[in-house]
Amino acid sequence: MIRQFRKKLFRATIYNISKMHKRNLTSLANLSKTEVKQFIDSFDVVLTDCDGVLWLDNKVYEGSPEAVNYLRSLGKKIFYVTNNSTKNRDDLQQKNEKMGYISKKEEIMSSAYLTASYLKERSFNKKVYIVGSKGLTSEFDEVNIKYLPIGPDIVEYNLLEYIDNFKLEPDVGAVVVGFDEHISYIKMLKAASYLNDPNCLFIATNTDERFPVGNSQVVKPGSGAIVKSIETCAERKPVLIGKPGTYIAQAIQKTCKIDPQRTLMIGDRCNTDILLGTRCGYQTLLVLSGVTKLEEVQKWKESSNKEENDLVPDFYINKLGDLLSLVN
Ligand SMILES: [Mg+2]
Repeated sequence: MIRQFRKKLFRATIYNISKMHKRNLTSLANLSKTEVKQFIDSFDVVLTDCDGVLWLDNKVYEGSPEAVNYLRSLGKKIFYVTNNSTKNRDDLQQKNEKMGYISKKEEIMSSAYLTASYLKERSFNKKVYIVGSKGLTSEFDEVNIKYLPIGPDIVEYNLLEYIDNFKLEPDVGAVVVGFDEHISYIKMLKAASYLNDPNCLFIATNTDERFPVGNSQVVKPGSGAIVKSIETCAERKPVLIGKPGTYIAQAIQKTCKIDPQRTLMIGDRCNTDILLGTRCGYQTLLVLSGVTKLEEVQKWKESSNKEENDLVPDFYINKLGDLLSLVN
């Protein structure tokens, strides 16, 4: 009885600690070792973003694998949630293994996999016009969803002549837009033409504006830029599968029952990762190793605009790899 009471009191204290820091932009580095341990005790499930948190392209962030594996060793359930649509779950599983992250395929929630699941759930039996890459086609193959060929598609002769002779492929019931390095005017034309039919589904894997890049002179446009171009000419808004869309949370709830208050979302981008966490009532931890800069978040915290307040995380840390040094 007393033990149960103590346990309840302990859980309540932890809950209050996490509540106290709600969207407060608390630096984990400014907490005592005991407080960091209480923070870690306050969640059972971890959703971690990948690009900018675990790795940058093919370079692993030092200390991140140890931090994620440490949380797993404490019995936390880990999900790898990525908006990147260029890789399928097998690719990501291999990447995790190579970089030292322990993972199972079912723990990987990529926007390509989730897009395939979304169509499958709707018993979709037509063809998909894809503006995207093999990450999508391989996930579609796994669930037998048919699609038109992907790859470069450009005007090989006069555009007006092309338009005069253009015919829509029959049986296309969805346009899926993700990252496509071969984005072209013709692809925009085709996507918008299929989307003229109001019954044709319009799905965006994600709307990230840019990728994090090591070279500060380069801006690497993300799927968001491609989605926006098609949204503009199609004059329609897509269903968003990736973060901050909450479909990902529904998909996770189907695999394991999670308590939002005891779930932690880790990410490097506030308008996807942290916003998803806010929308779902999760605790949130921003890492400063990727896209969002601390100065931006400080501005959002002071803002009187609620939409900007929703981008503010509960906690932040310079990089995930610093976590272990704060508890040891
Ligand atoms: Mg990221």
